Amino acid sequence: MGKTGKRKLRIALAGNPNAGKTTVFNALTGARQRVGNWPGVTVERIEGQARWNDTDVEIIDLPGIYSFSAWSQDERIARNFILEQKPDVVIDIVDASNLERNLFLTTQLIELRVPLVVGLNMMDVVQKRRMKLEVEHLAQHLDCPVIPLVATRGEGFDELRDAVLRLAEAKSVPTTSVRYDSIVEEALAEMIPILTELAQSEDVDVRWLAVKLLEKDETACRLAGDICEKLVKHHTHRIERHVGESIDLVLIGGRYGFIHGLSRDVLHRDFDFRKTVSDAIDQILLNRVVGIPIFLAVMYGVFWFTLKASEPFIVLFDRLFDVINNGAAHLLTSIGSPAWLTELTAGGLGGGLQTVATLTPPIFFIFLALSVLEDSGYMSRAAFIADRFMRWIGLPGKAFIPMLIGFGCNVPAILATRTLSNPRDRVLTILINPLMSCGARIPVYILFLGVFYPKTGSLLMFGLYVLGIVLAVLSGLLFKRTLLQGDVSTFVMELPPYHIPTANGVLLHTWRRLKSFVQRAGLIIILIIIIFQALQFIGDADSPGDTFLARAGQFATPVFRPMGIQPDNWEAVVGLLSGVFAKEAIVGTMGSLYLQEAQGSDEPELYHFWGGIRGAMLSFAHSVGGLFGADVEDEQTRNELANVMRQKFPEPAGVIAYLLFVLIYMPCVAVMAVIYKELGMRWMLFSLAWLTGLAWWVATMFYQLATLPAHPGTSLAWAAGLLAVGWAVWWGMKAAARSGRVS
Ligand code: GDP
Ligand code: MG
Repeated sequence: MGKTGKRKLRIALAGNPNAGKTTVFNALTGARQRVGNWPGVTVERIEGQARWNDTDVEIIDLPGIYSFSAWSQDERIARNFILEQKPDVVIDIVDASNLERNLFLTTQLIELRVPLVVGLNMMDVVQKRRMKLEVEHLAQHLDCPVIPLVATRGEGFDELRDAVLRLAEAKSVPTTSVRYDSIVEEALAEMIPILTELAQSEDVDVRWLAVKLLEKDETACRLAGDICEKLVKHHTHRIERHVGESIDLVLIGGRYGFIHGLSRDVLHRDFDFRKTVSDAIDQILLNRVVGIPIFLAVMYGVFWFTLKASEPFIVLFDRLFDVINNGAAHLLTSIGSPAWLTELTAGGLGGGLQTVATLTPPIFFIFLALSVLEDSGYMSRAAFIADRFMRWIGLPGKAFIPMLIGFGCNVPAILATRTLSNPRDRVLTILINPLMSCGARIPVYILFLGVFYPKTGSLLMFGLYVLGIVLAVLSGLLFKRTLLQGDVSTFVMELPPYHIPTANGVLLHTWRRLKSFVQRAGLIIILIIIIFQALQFIGDADSPGDTFLARAGQFATPVFRPMGIQPDNWEAVVGLLSGVFAKEAIVGTMGSLYLQEAQGSDEPELYHFWGGIRGAMLSFAHSVGGLFGADVEDEQTRNELANVMRQKFPEPAGVIAYLLFVLIYMPCVAVMAVIYKELGMRWMLFSLAWLTGLAWWVATMFYQLATLPAHPGTSLAWAAGLLAVGWAVWWGMKAAARSGRVS
């Protein structure tokens, strides 16, 4: 026991993010800290030592969490630690200035029946806002010691230590219960006698076990084993039918009801208390009517800023690397290096560096803008607004912003999914992200729609964007039902007070993200571009139909026949192959091959393969007109190209099918590199296969149905075949999910 000084007390610090846990931890332990990782995951585990009176204590700083379900890794870590390691005392750090939100976790700790001390932090803020908190009263309600603290000023720590030592001695746990709806209470009353024995042998509280079983909580279900199925299904059904809401919401409602009542009882605001500035701003920004247009305007502002700010840098880096690469090529040639070496270094390595360098400015500026929004507190409001809509379609609210960023470029979009704490939601968001039509695909749309649909082009382009979104939502729902089963996570939305962001904080944030892009994706992009350059070069460079890539295109053309690519249109297929390396390369490659064919063998200088990236990035900036404006100035050449295209694509349905394929098929190497780094090889391959398969499916289905009158027999056969394949894939995914082969 503590009194003898022999035993070591283990104390866990729990609390919401930003409640001041780390500040308390530092004050309690001083410099005696050890940083490691939690077993099996890369979440930091910090523990420290101290000696209070004559008791040695060890304090563990748990990850900051909002609730105690096992939705996120952090929640799982904190929960398992408390459940399995059974610390002698849990100190729950509560931000008193956000009492209701913070007490949500407290109620769950109380239900766990662990020895609990509540550290009521940020009392200075409460005072400043002229609120009055009856601490004693709160302690009575919660049935545990409540110690007011101002952690930053070191106030209250003596009392906190005393309370912890006393509690460790007394070993008492809170006995308060959250009262749920009467229908829930009836169910609990029936379940508790059945579970009592089990709870005793597992050393958990029986009421907690019953509540958690109703929540279909993993750990609880594992403990209960077979009992779980029979017992719980019956009760949840009855409750859900009775209340007309999912059981999770019923239980959350119960807890919040408890908290509301509690805080109304113990928290008093002065009569003349005015709403804080944050509350006032939220009245407008979270308003149901004006909140959404403001949100859209802010997001539009982010894009506008990103484009305007990055454009000069893209041009600068592009030109700079043009000069460097050309110079290097000349130099190498003049000292007699063989052509392949020049091609690989100046073209491949140089081209790769150029690509990474031109991707850097937009990524830097979009992250800069997002960091400002994040640090100011607006980002959580944006998530809050989007959440309503996303929930309605059954996807996690936090997936919204990455999807929006995806319209610019999928690379930063995927990096932005790190704000999602639930791994399943994160995988899902990453998988559907490439369906957001990125800026690099615009030149392809513009070229084709300009030639074939000059009048209805913008409408069709809008249609492509919408179709991408629809397919993303449908894929998302499909994954949710098969490979990534589980409810959309219910997270208590944190609405931190608004801040003026600091330059230091914002730059640090941005820098960390940019660095991780360059480190994660940069090297892979460069390597792959070198390989691609080699593939382009292998073969006879003087005859465009004879390089490795052209051969590959010719070989693969029959695969695209069912979606309307003519047998002699191998250039379009080469375009798709090069699009894997960068979507903006499609136009450059295909166009130059068409022109070569039209003009004979003299190589047109108009298109330079990697120069296409400039066209794309700029047209991402100008949105329309970038391609012709930037690359094909010559009217005659433009007409020539349009003529070849009309020959190569004799059917309108084939044009649309091709654009559908370009919209949907596998993302470029930069995106795949990021997916690989974020989710690993398996998911990257899955994403590649899913998107490419879906693209082929949609394009072929479209083409066959659109040309149905011309050949009803074959068209219907194709459609039936595609439907069968679609069904088989769905069935396979369901089976894979059932057999538990997917994590
Ligand atoms: P954690 O996320 O729970 O570890 O929170 P931190 O310890 O990092 O604290 C979050 C922020 O709250 C920091 O800026 C602290 O300086 C601040 N903070 C912590 N305790 C207090 C307090 O008692 N009063 C005030 N005004 N600020 C505090
Ligand atoms: Mg912390």
